[in-house]
Amino acid sequence: MARAIWILLLLGIGIAVAMWLAELGGTVEIKVGEAWIGTSFPIALLILCVTFLVLHGILSLIGAIRRWPGRLRNRRAWRHRQDGDAALTRALVALSAGTAEAARLEVRKARKLLGDTPQTLLLAAEAERLSGHDEAAAAVFRQLAEREDARFIGLRGLLRQAMARGDWDAALALAKEAEQVQPGAAWLREERAQLALQTHNWREALSLAPADAPRAPLALAAAGQEPDAARAAELERQAFQADPGFAPAAIAHARRLRAEGSPRRARSVLEDAWAASPHPDLAEPYLADDPDPLTRVKSVEMLIRRNPTASESRLLLARVALTAGLTGRARGALEAVVKSGTTDRRAYLMLAELEEAEHGETAEARAAQARWLREAATARPEPRWRCGHCAAEQRAWAPVCTACDTAGRVIWTAEPVAEQAAPAPGAKALSGPLQAVTG
Ligand SMILES: [Zn+2]
Repeated sequence: MARAIWILLLLGIGIAVAMWLAELGGTVEIKVGEAWIGTSFPIALLILCVTFLVLHGILSLIGAIRRWPGRLRNRRAWRHRQDGDAALTRALVALSAGTAEAARLEVRKARKLLGDTPQTLLLAAEAERLSGHDEAAAAVFRQLAEREDARFIGLRGLLRQAMARGDWDAALALAKEAEQVQPGAAWLREERAQLALQTHNWREALSLAPADAPRAPLALAAAGQEPDAARAAELERQAFQADPGFAPAAIAHARRLRAEGSPRRARSVLEDAWAASPHPDLAEPYLADDPDPLTRVKSVEMLIRRNPTASESRLLLARVALTAGLTGRARGALEAVVKSGTTDRRAYLMLAELEEAEHGETAEARAAQARWLREAATARPEPRWRCGHCAAEQRAWAPVCTACDTAGRVIWTAEPVAEQAAPAPGAKALSGPLQAVTG
């Protein structure tokens, strides 16, 4: 309404001015030499306005014609980007669905439309990798690694590939390069820790291990690699302090203390270890200075005094008592173990031995022995050092499985459980920046 009033008002003013001009009259004259042009003032004004409008129109038209190819190009580029983005989305969907060929097709389309951007290159590499073309994937990762803006992505892809094929030398070089590009990247730290495990560089593995990782085995393994005795001793101490229940560390630490002339401290370390987690391997170094069978019984009582009812404590006591001829002590300990129901076949085998020691070669002893041996046959096996990956039995704890070469998986266990469907070490690295997408 207000607009209409304004327009009416303007129209009114326009007409009033026109009428005023018409009434005003007057002429405009142009005289050049003999030529003379003359017209009334309002008409001259009108001609001026019309000329201005026509000129303006012509100039605008010329500008529009000149801008036309650029606008056409922009529109085409915009359409390409739209189509390229759509192809990228379809490629992501195909990757997450695991349909490699569809992903490759869509990525090729996207690359044609959008060119080689870090995004299209990364998806191209992932699509190639998913369809098993590792060489093609590596070529794309190299292309990424050559770009200033996507260097880390390329190196990361190449590193994952190197680790997956077990090429540790190449992986180490790539990790070093990636560390320079992106110092302290969390993912890189994880990969370097994995790499240190694979290359048995325990000191590095220890320094890169996450806070919740078991440090005692790594520190002990690092001590084994340390040429400097003082530093090795320090690492053994660290291992023992990280986990006093980890028997190999306690034994190594105690051995070192003994060699340094501190047998009492060595014994106290072994006692602490037994209190934390009784382990039969702790007995031998603890009893090393006791050749006499009866003092050995006394020493064992000292060793096990903080957890005398643990089945390992009772079994150890029974063993030394039996050797010392204290058959009553031995029987008491063994019957307690059997009653507790926590034992394995060692208790039954020792009971069979005990029958012979107590009763000699009698028919009664033989019958009792046969009974214990039958029990032993069905009882749980005793724990051993085993590889948690392939379940192979190990003679002693070692940082690497002697059978399958897996690092950091030798554990003390009675149950030989092999990881059937577990991924190979380094296979974890196959999932990557697209883990959330490709699963
Ligand atoms: Zn193994």
